[in-house]
Amino acid sequence: MPEKTVFAKIIAGQIPAQIVHRDDRVTAFRDINPQAPTHILIVPNEPLSGAGDLTDSHGPLLVAMFAVARKLAAAEGIAESGYRLVINEGGHGGQTVFHLHMHLLGGRQMTWPPG
Ligand code: 5GP
Repeated sequence: MPEKTVFAKIIAGQIPAQIVHRDDRVTAFRDINPQAPTHILIVPNEPLSGAGDLTDSHGPLLVAMFAVARKLAAAEGIAESGYRLVINEGGHGGQTVFHLHMHLLGGRQMTWPPG
């Protein structure tokens, strides 16, 4: 068995996190090192390594992740001001935790291009 990622441990309740959403497909919790006033990680409960693991069968999971992002943006009061959804993939993408996750960032003006 491969070593569990920190996100798998959070989903399993083995390490603490500020969980803001949980259902049978998706768990969302606040980033430990926030880069914006709202910085939430939206994570499939299924331990996919990253975007590269996604197949056609994951369509409903992706829809569920975007629906959670939309719901949380409204709950955080950033739906109207706008927000950024980010998935980092692999080394050059800046991925550091190899369990697929979407960042929800908002509450300040984002810039482009990202660093
Ligand atoms: P990545 O760089 O892989 O796209 O993003 C990983 C994110 O996970 C980073 O923003 C990092 O701050 C966050 N993170 C890493 N370890 C933990 C942890 O133990 N708890 C929480 N809540 N976030 C974490």
